[in-house]
Amino acid sequence: MQQITLLGATGSIGVSTLDVIARHPDKYSVYALSGNLQLEKLALQCQAHQAKLAVVSDSVAAAKLEGLLQGAGCTTEVLYGIDALCQVASADDVDTVMAAIVGAAGLVPTLAAVSAGKKILLANKESLVMAGGLFMQAVKESGSVLLPIDSEHNAIFQCLPNDYEQAQSAGISKLLLSASGGPFRGWSQSEMSTVTPDQACAHPNWSMGRKISVDSASLMNKGLELIEACWLFDVGPAQIEVVVHPQSIIHSLVQYIDGSVLAQLGNPDMRTPIAHALAWPQRIDAGVADLNLFEIGQLNFEKPDLEAFPCLQLAFDVAQAAGDAPAILNGANEIAVQAFLDQRIGFTQIAQVVGETLSGLSFTEPESLDAVQESDSKARAFSTAYIAEIES
Ligand code: NAD
Ligand code: MG
Repeated sequence: MQQITLLGATGSIGVSTLDVIARHPDKYSVYALSGNLQLEKLALQCQAHQAKLAVVSDSVAAAKLEGLLQGAGCTTEVLYGIDALCQVASADDVDTVMAAIVGAAGLVPTLAAVSAGKKILLANKESLVMAGGLFMQAVKESGSVLLPIDSEHNAIFQCLPNDYEQAQSAGISKLLLSASGGPFRGWSQSEMSTVTPDQACAHPNWSMGRKISVDSASLMNKGLELIEACWLFDVGPAQIEVVVHPQSIIHSLVQYIDGSVLAQLGNPDMRTPIAHALAWPQRIDAGVADLNLFEIGQLNFEKPDLEAFPCLQLAFDVAQAAGDAPAILNGANEIAVQAFLDQRIGFTQIAQVVGETLSGLSFTEPESLDAVQESDSKARAFSTAYIAEIES
């Protein structure tokens, strides 16, 4: 029986994870669930999965959740705050941690799970983008097993040899990172300048949280994934090619020096990578329908348009620059996406805010978690001030 802590249980990945877990009560049990704002949903999840512990952000939310749980006769114990998140991520009873908090808020609890040597199911790509060097070092030191949940990285992981360590010795020439192109594929910058948050969040193939949906629309998501892939698979950005594939059936590919290209295919449903990582190296039923190639008929591919989607170019540049540049890109992007969702800036201004922040700050080599968080704060302060300037 694997005991699981699920950080970010109320989100899109959290809900899909609980769906898979519920299909296999003989294999998995829930130790702790965390959530931020949706307390009713979290209370129902605690009840349905008999979680031992629940973690929310502050004492007010904790009191409210306790009230809801008591009313339902549920015995889940409620904790709050960042230390509590770290506690449930590293507790002795826990085998596996699903890291599915969105954004920089996931960094500290995910690292706590890594340092405790847990099996990590990593959805929170932002933590790897911000602190890749420290993160991978901690994985090595603790012997933690790191399994990617991002569908593209999970696909690449599945297409790599079991004993994979180094691209060159494994005969790998390239990683081909799939991108759907998002809701604005084929659009120009000027066509995108007036789109609304709801338009940006209406992804053609995937149903996801609002932050990653906006990132998918700007292709910043692909940029973050490029950096994520560099750390996960120990390759440079020059060894990764982004391939726009609008059907989202091929989730990514690995090209070998003998001309072979291995791909992982499946319906666009996050329960597949989640089930893969939960059961790895075994396989379990994910509740996902069989792929019907006859219904799909065609698979298409195109090059990404870096002019229309400058966020992807910025991420390529940052991946080359390394140091704390990725943390700065990520911090500025989180501020810009929130400002767009709050309708304070336009969609195409997201890239402008991130670009200005990157050119306005100098890069350093972050050698501690504190240094990473300082870079993140610097980026947030700069981009917040820049947004205030363009608003006035
Ligand atoms: P979501 O917005 O649906 O859910 C986010 C979760 O994080 C919620 O449970 C929320 O309560 C929690 N949370 C938000 N802010 C928090 C804070 N400050 N402190 C503590 N908890 C907080 O997001 P999602 O779509 O489920 O994405 C989660 C992560 O997985 C992201 O990093 C995203 O990039 C990654 N991911 C998601 C998908 C997908 O299909 N949704 C695919 C690949 C990767
Ligand atoms: Mg992805």
